[in-house]
Formats: sequence, C-alpha cells, structure tokens
Amino acid sequence: MTFERRLKNPSLLIGKNYIDGQWVDPVSGKTFEVHDPATGKLIGTCPESNAQDADTAIKAASVAFASWRSRTGRERARILRRWYDLLLENADDLAVLIGWENGKAQVDAAGEVLFAASFIEWFSEEAGRIHGDVVPHSAPGFRVSVLKEPVGVCGLIAPWNFPAAMVTRKIGPALAAGCTVVIKTAGETPFTANALAALGEKAGVPKGVVNIVCALDNTPEVGLALCQSPIVHKISFTGSTRVGRLLMKQSSDTIKKLSLELGGNAPVLVFNDADLDVAVKGVVASKFKVSGQTCVCANRIFVQSGIYDEFVRRLVQVVQTFKVGNGADPSTTHGPLIHVAAADRVTAVVDDAVSKGAKVAVGGRRRQDLGPGFYEPTVLTDVTGDMRIFKEEIFGPIAPVLRFTNEEEAVDLANSCDVGLASYVYTQDINTAARVTETLQVGMVALNTGVMSDAAAPFGGVKQSGLGREGSKYGIEDYLQLKTVVTGNINVTHRAHI
Ligand code: NAD
Repeated sequence: MTFERRLKNPSLLIGKNYIDGQWVDPVSGKTFEVHDPATGKLIGTCPESNAQDADTAIKAASVAFASWRSRTGRERARILRRWYDLLLENADDLAVLIGWENGKAQVDAAGEVLFAASFIEWFSEEAGRIHGDVVPHSAPGFRVSVLKEPVGVCGLIAPWNFPAAMVTRKIGPALAAGCTVVIKTAGETPFTANALAALGEKAGVPKGVVNIVCALDNTPEVGLALCQSPIVHKISFTGSTRVGRLLMKQSSDTIKKLSLELGGNAPVLVFNDADLDVAVKGVVASKFKVSGQTCVCANRIFVQSGIYDEFVRRLVQVVQTFKVGNGADPSTTHGPLIHVAAADRVTAVVDDAVSKGAKVAVGGRRRQDLGPGFYEPTVLTDVTGDMRIFKEEIFGPIAPVLRFTNEEEAVDLANSCDVGLASYVYTQDINTAARVTETLQVGMVALNTGVMSDAAAPFGGVKQSGLGREGSKYGIEDYLQLKTVVTGNINVTHRAHI
C-alpha cells in the first residue's frame, strides 16, 4: 500500500536558503536531493551552499544583532510566544515534514512537534527574566554590577534525528538572549527547519535574526566557515563526538564559546527490586524511540540476575507487537533508519555480537521486503564487553541485555566508557537509587522512567558527551556572557536610624 504525504499548507515545503529574510538560491546554483528514507523517493531539492553563502548569512546575522539585542526581553518574548502559537497551529504539517524526511513513525513525529514547540514556549518565558547581579565590593565606596549580555552571532549545527526539536532547542535560548543565528541544517532533513523559519517570520522574527544555510556534501566547508569566522562568537552543535571534536579544533583560532551535545552510550541498570512493568515500559521507550536513533537511547541494558529471565521474556513480548513500516502508515510503530548506510552499520554491529556469542531473542535481521533502510527491532542476550555493541553507540533498534550480580559490578561497567550522556536506573530502594545516581558518570539520570527530555530539565553530558546544557533555566546561560561593571568613588553617607 502507498501512503501519500500531503501538506495542508504546501507553501511550507521550501527548498532554499533563508538569508536576511529572503528565500535564496546558493551562489553556486547547485542543489542536493532529499529522499524519503522509507521509499527512497525524492521529496525535493535544497541548496548545496558553500563558504560564501555562509559568509553572507553571517553578515546578515551580524547586522541584525544590533537591533535585536536592543529590544527588551519582553519584546523578544512576545515574538517567540507568537512563534510557539504558530508551531501548534501548523503542527500537522510540521509532523508530516518531520516524518517524511526523517522516516519516524507518525506518533513520534507528532510528539516531536510538541517537544520542539515547548522550547520556544519555555524560552519565550525566560527572555524577560535574564537577571544580572548586584554584588557587594570588598572596599567602601565601590559597587559591582554583573550584567548578562548576548554573546552575539551564533552558528548552530543541527542533526537529522530531531529535525525540529534540535533546532528549536538552540534557536529558543539564542533568540531569547538577544543573539542572532546562522543555522546549518542536516543534509538529510533540511525542510522542517525551513518551515520553522517561515513560521518564525510570520510571528515577527525580524530579517537577519534567523538565517539558514543548507548543505549536504559541502557540510564540512560550511561548518569550517562558521568556526573560522571572527564574527561568529559561539558554535552550538548536536551530533557525534567525532564531529564535535573537529568543530572544537576548528574553533580554537577564534576562541569560540562552545556548546556540544555529542554521542552517548546510555546504560540502564535494572535491579532485582525494580517494578518490572515500569522497567520494561521505560526500556521500550528509551531504546526504541525513533527506531533507536536518539542520543539518549538505552545502549547497554544491565539486568540483575534475579529478574533477568523474566525481564527478557517481557521485553521480547512487547517488541513482538511492534509494526515496522513506512512512517506515513498510521499503524506503523517503527520506521526505517535514516539511510541505508545506517542499516548496514547496525547489521555489522549485530553480526559482530552474534559471532562472539550473543543470542537473538527477537528480530536480528534486515527487512529488505520493506526497503533497504529497515532493520527489525531486536533484543540480544548474552552480550559481553568485548562486542562492538557494548562499546559503540548503536543508533538503531537493537537492545543488548547483559546480566549482572551486584551493584558495584554494574556501576563499574556502566562507567567504563569515555562518554557520559544519559542513564536509566530502576529500583524501589531509595538507598540504591541515591548511591547509583550519585556514582554514575553521566549528565543525566532517569530514575524509574524511560523519558528524561523536558524543556524544564537541563540536557547535556559529561566526559566526551560534550559541553554545556540545553533547555531549562541553565540553557540560556550558554548564549549569555557576563560583563562586570565596577563603580568607584561613590560617596554615600548613611544617616543614623533614630
Ligand atoms: P554527525 O556528527 O555525523 O552529524 C550531525 C550533524 O553534523 C549533521 O547535521 C551533519 O550535517 C553535521 N556535520 C557532519 N560533519 C560536519 C562537519 N565536518 N562540519 C560541520 N557539520 C558537520 O552525527 P550523526 O551520525 O548524523 O548523528 C548521530 C550522532 O549525533 C550520535 O552520536 C548522537 O548521539 C548524536 N546526537 C547527540 C545529541 C545530544 O543532544 N547529545 C542529540 C542527537 C544526536
């Protein structure tokens, strides 16, 4: 059966760059094709931008910065709020675009629209509440004021797994703080961000405040232009640790402020006393969302021996109910991977595990009958530390389950990697919960739940999972810098109280 992707407002499908409030072609005139990951069919084309396009966008953002930062926070808040309202009014179309170019199931795409909008809403509320400090000086006659100012033009580089939310989680705080931005969208998913920008313009975002340059093959060139530009004062990137490291190196000459949301290898620790229903539901949510292609996806599932067999039995039972298919089909629960190369990688990782003794409890194969990018949701047992699946971020619908006997062993194994983004703990014992959450080397712990992302909760990692936090009251700090004003020679004589 074929399923058509239809927009209520077809003008939201825009294959251009957005620079200084205009939808423009790239200087080279070249374009790249964007394909539906489920069917391989062409969705449309977008500009293959180069460093010159990036520079034009940077200059536009720089000109717009002066007046955008001069507005009051309340004014910026009202524009962001209108943008939030428009995102909700256009939620159906945005969900179609997300599902179309990313491949995720409709329910996930619809959920992403709300999640994406929540960051614009949240930061519209923060925009008017950027407080500085008045600090007592050590000497009499002096005063210290600490002002918070926008960092300036920001380069935002977004991934494909959340084509809307990873963009709004950066734009929201940037604009609220008074910064202007140049966004380099993922080559796989450029259309969603363009639709967001069109709605932003309608909401009153002035020209030059938000600029978008698209690129696929030229991505490294555009990334380099953003990193090397002396006008860009900050880079915010979400993607792999490999690319994060590269951007950090490229940004060193201009000493940029950096926010890096990088890869993870999320451990799940399920203790004997866990509520099994809660644990299985949580693992299903954290492992299989967007077919396993989120940076907080459960990557190593450690289950204590007393409940191991029952946990695996129940997990397999749920996974057997999944319906893999084209995300445009409302009955699909899990769509394809982003591209064929991703499915090839997942196949290689599973084959490696099986060749070293892992057992396939369910799944474990490509779904070539559906298309080359589909892989069946899989549960692997008897996984060990020497397998690739244990060491690498899977980024696919594979749940590797490992048995542990005691807490120390599980925590040591969980910490035995150079990244530390998300983790999940299931226990009913408050002492275990406190000890384990405090010893895990991660930026985030989800306790007795598989869902951790929320606009109000700081999101980010430790170790090689990155720098900075997104969302929450802390997220805006990454777009602000402090200015200290020390005033001297103040002659205040206090009168006595009678
Ligand atoms: P990736 O790093 O290859 O690509 C991510 C983005 O970076 C894309 O937009 C891509 O176009 C761009 N990019 C690639 N090379 C670049 C370069 N040289 N210069 C500038 N930009 C460049 O990652 P991926 O494999 O596509 O995505 C999956 C990775 O992203 C995983 O490691 C995942 O954990 C991570 N991720 C992290 C978070 C987080 O919040 N920590 C969220 C989502 C994804």
